[in-house]
Amino acid sequence: MFTEKWIIMKKIETIFLLVAVLISQFAFAQKFPSKGYSSITEERSRNIVGFLANDLLEGRDAGMHGGYIAAEYIVSMFKEWGIEPFDGESHFQHFHAAKNGNSWVTEADFDITAIVEAGAENRFMKNVLGVIRGKEDGVVVVGAHYDHLGIDTAIKGDGCYNGADDNASGVAAVLQIARAIKMSGKQPRRTIVFALWDGEEKGLLGSRFFVKKCTFLSDISVYMNFDMVGRDLAEKPGHLSYMYSAGNPLFGEWLKEDIKKQGLNLVPFYKASDNLIGGSDNTPFARKGVPIVWYHTEGHPDYHRPSDSADKIDYPKLTDITRAACLCVWRLANVRDY
Ligand SMILES: [Zn+2]
Repeated sequence: MFTEKWIIMKKIETIFLLVAVLISQFAFAQKFPSKGYSSITEERSRNIVGFLANDLLEGRDAGMHGGYIAAEYIVSMFKEWGIEPFDGESHFQHFHAAKNGNSWVTEADFDITAIVEAGAENRFMKNVLGVIRGKEDGVVVVGAHYDHLGIDTAIKGDGCYNGADDNASGVAAVLQIARAIKMSGKQPRRTIVFALWDGEEKGLLGSRFFVKKCTFLSDISVYMNFDMVGRDLAEKPGHLSYMYSAGNPLFGEWLKEDIKKQGLNLVPFYKASDNLIGGSDNTPFARKGVPIVWYHTEGHPDYHRPSDSADKIDYPKLTDITRAACLCVWRLANVRDY
């Protein structure tokens, strides 16, 4: 009754069905709900950068008044959107830092009590950490530093380092991504930690402290970094430096696909590298072998000058980078292997 041909046909049918189910699951995992995606707006990019880069925040110097206001502002956004504290209690990760000779160190580097008692300049700094918990194991960390250079009183006239591009722009990207994922109404497979680092300008203090104190480093499947993602250069319109770990070629493929599919106005320079160390908060993670994705729109004459102001930001571009990165975060949190 069951001919050999019939059995073969049935087997082929089953295989096809299995493949179809697998493809649909894969596609489901990758598809980011449109209500999350459309919640990312140029207006919100503008508002976040505008607040953080305001003179009233006094250049967001780490451990100083303006820096504390920036941190409180970020926490208020997390609370408003239902982004939970990382440790279940507080959005802050406090750390004590001190100047040791010419460089700054934190209490995670060594016991700084002695140098503090001996009169070293010291400050209390804080990372801001929010979390969206995943259904399964694994962690994706998405970060940007929120501190900047403070005020230079030696400068005649405006000595306030507004740090709009460096790095209010990156903070705006991380905050909008956190909000969009919350707004999507979907729980990711992996946990996503949103980290706004303090003390980057003094030597990556916040991200170094986090990595040193982290008890789940081996669970972190990727660290995504934003540092200066708000400028457009006249000679290279749409230019985005997109750096990612060479061991993860999919990271490049995803961006190509998303730019095409969503019609994003970005012209990335794809840089796959085995050595994404130096420059920004990706460094402590890369040193531990964590794969990296890093967005950056290149330096400019206003870099580390009081003239890095909010009016010079290309908001449509910053918002498109945020959109592209949000789709990437969703894949990083849901695609099983990369
Ligand atoms: Zn920076």
